[in-house]
Amino acid sequence: EAKRAGRGRVACYRPGMVEEVAERHRLEEDMRQALARGEFHLAYQPIMALASGEITGYEALIRWRHPTEGEISPARFIPLAEENGLVVEIGEWVLRQACRDAATWPAGRHVAVNVSTVQFRTPLLLKHITSALAESGLSPNRLEVELTETAIVADGAQIADGLAALRALGIRIAMDDFGTGYSSLAHLRDFPLDRIKIDRSFVSNALADRHSMAVLKAVIRMGEEMEISTIAEGVESEAEFTLLRELGCSAAQGYYIGRPAAMPAGEQDARRVGGAGAF
Ligand code: C2E
Ligand code: MG
Ligand code: MG
Ligand code: MG
Repeated sequence: EAKRAGRGRVACYRPGMVEEVAERHRLEEDMRQALARGEFHLAYQPIMALASGEITGYEALIRWRHPTEGEISPARFIPLAEENGLVVEIGEWVLRQACRDAATWPAGRHVAVNVSTVQFRTPLLLKHITSALAESGLSPNRLEVELTETAIVADGAQIADGLAALRALGIRIAMDDFGTGYSSLAHLRDFPLDRIKIDRSFVSNALADRHSMAVLKAVIRMGEEMEISTIAEGVESEAEFTLLRELGCSAAQGYYIGRPAAMPAGEQDARRVGGAGAF
């Protein structure tokens, strides 16, 4: 770009930019190897039904244990993997692993898997999902796909077809990070959704900010009317937890209930955070 700008113009290089590009390149190369080297694993975070206090499922969250850099957050490497397309392959691994793990859990507990819009754009997604289910023997109604609001909005009609195909298999669909993207109410009306995950920002601000509280209440109410369940994300305190229960939110997820953690097969019941019965 700087070159095209021509002579006499100020080149738009920032200090450190060359290093950033090199570092990014390195990370991408490492990512290509990471699957084969078994550097990815899944952490599971419990989701609690607020009316009963029961843990009804877990969200699978990918973790990358880099050999020299330590744990790298998905917030850092997933966007890169979306750009270079590796997220399709990584996402296939996530689906397979999550279904295999969930098949060992007590009946009824579901697993929620984050799926990138890039995965949705390839016809491979449906294939990856059906083979992960077939291989693990997990019933499709125990799998939930989480898609961000931004993805749903960006890809409109195409996504609607993909979602319909998944739902026909019995898989549930959740809109992730609701309230942060650019959705309109028309999307909520037109897309076949089973759950709305209310973004953490509304939850953490509700007690201090009237407008966050108003949005939170309105979304919960709308969910009730539409018969779409609402899951509050990022519940960190007892006060938030109590508020959400009082407002009639269907379910909650957050550090107060349980942090994402490894869940080896067979140990899931020992790990019931805080004891579901405590609430
Ligand atoms: P997300 O799907 O919205 O997941 C929730 C994020 O909030 C997780 O971050 C989780 O650890 C964090 N979190 C949960 N409870 C609390 C809380 O009480 N307080 C705070 N401050 N944070 C909380 P994580 O694991 O770092 O993941 C970040 C994002 O990366 C996810 O956001 C999701 O968009 C993406 N991601 C994670 N795993 C995958 C994956 O397997 N595939 C794809 N495509 N994306 C993934
Ligand atoms: Mg999610
Ligand atoms: Mg989320
Ligand atoms: Mg989020």
